[in-house]
Amino acid sequence: MLSKRLPSVVRSLRFRLALSYTIIFGIFLSGVGVVFRYQLDSVIDEWMESLIEDDWNAVGGFLRIENGQATWSVDPRVPQQVFFLERLRRNLLLSDADGNILEASSGYRIFGVESAGELTRIAASATPVWRKKFHKAEGELLLRYGQFSTQGDKYLLVIGRRTSEPRVITRLFVEDYFLSIPLMLIVATFFGWFTSGRALRPVNELAETAQKTSGSSLHLRIDSRGAGDELDSLIDAFNKMMARLEENFDQVKRFSTDASHELRTPITGIRGQLEVALMTAKNTDEYRDAVINALEDVDRLSNIVRALLMLSQAETGQIEIKREPVDLGGIVGDLAEQFSTGAADENIGLTWSSDSDSLVSGDRTQLERLVTNLLANAIKYTPGGGSVAVSVVRRESVVELVVADTGIGLAAEHLPHVFERFYRVKRDDPEKGLGLGLSFVAWIVRAHGGAIDVQSELGKGTTFRVSLPRTGSAGMTPVPALLAEARQ
Ligand code: ADP
Repeated sequence: MLSKRLPSVVRSLRFRLALSYTIIFGIFLSGVGVVFRYQLDSVIDEWMESLIEDDWNAVGGFLRIENGQATWSVDPRVPQQVFFLERLRRNLLLSDADGNILEASSGYRIFGVESAGELTRIAASATPVWRKKFHKAEGELLLRYGQFSTQGDKYLLVIGRRTSEPRVITRLFVEDYFLSIPLMLIVATFFGWFTSGRALRPVNELAETAQKTSGSSLHLRIDSRGAGDELDSLIDAFNKMMARLEENFDQVKRFSTDASHELRTPITGIRGQLEVALMTAKNTDEYRDAVINALEDVDRLSNIVRALLMLSQAETGQIEIKREPVDLGGIVGDLAEQFSTGAADENIGLTWSSDSDSLVSGDRTQLERLVTNLLANAIKYTPGGGSVAVSVVRRESVVELVVADTGIGLAAEHLPHVFERFYRVKRDDPEKGLGLGLSFVAWIVRAHGGAIDVQSELGKGTTFRVSLPRTGSAGMTPVPALLAEARQ
């Protein structure tokens, strides 16, 4: 709801990608800055400690303690020594083992002097102690507490250095770095906006093409970027979808053109016959003849309409294909027997054979329709004296149905088209068929996941070979057998 009220730019994926890129980059930069800041601090600490350690090692050469009195001796002619001592004594504290202060520099006092008890406790520690002291105006003081022994007596010596100067490095880093983050984020935002725009360009193209798509522009495709990424597979899927749509659309177009063409012939016939009758018929018999002829055409018309309806139902997936074990050999046997009388009348020898266990997984009604069509065609296109042989052969994963005739055959140029709707060879008698039988056969085969193939030689005969998947290769038990078993 809320997102609907936002401007479209803000709702866009590009904006959200660029924004998340900026946020993640901002978090990353800040994290890196914080880590660097602490790294820098600890490097400075280590550096200062090593300097203090050097001071500590040099102290012994200058400090004498006699009768509770500390004396510092330097050669005044060596300016480095004078300077060293001056710097050392700026932040220094010396106490005896009981916490009595022998010397405490004013620099030290600013940061606060420990109580005698505390000094005694630290003096007892055999290992050096490191501490930091803070003062609002003076900054930070790093201190080393350690035992100092001379003439058998133990003292506590504390020396230190102020760290405010080296800490300037950290401060400068923090200032420069964190001030530059907004600038880096602006650059990152532009970069994110640009790259996400580039990455999403195919999506926009897709949307534009989809919007432009209509029945007349189904040929539109989007060029693959060749990156092999998710967007390329989206483009690929889109192009394939468009190709399928184009094919289906073409099919529908062809279907309606073919259908109207096919329907026009009998309608013109009926009209012609009725008009002629109206103008020329002189008696009832002539009218009767005209009406009978017209009725024949009406019959043909309703056959076409019925076949078209069934085919369109089939192709739009409205006919449900059952999956049950069907004995193809049995179907062939039954149907061939029915056709044998008609074949014999035409003087055509019809033979059939079947392997045992020729169960296929399919729909009995549709498989019967398939066999009927092939058998009817074989007989229809075989002249008297010829023969038709039907066989069902069981192979490893399929059952093969072969319908071979010694009929008129087909020229090679027709073979790729015989499964198309309304395809008929010119020589055919228009009364003998609609050119829809084989397209229906092809659909049934496809719906069963099978394959069909035709071989033919003009004047010699034609062979149709259909392979259909067998029921679960291990031999699926037919449903009736299962039911019988369950009832026992
Ligand atoms: P029809 O109803 O016209 O037979 P089909 O789709 O069944 O339509 O067949 C398409 C065309 O293929 C037929 O017109 C015919 O010319 C040819 N055809 C089909 N089967 C055979 C066959 N066994 N021998 C020769 N030609 C055939």
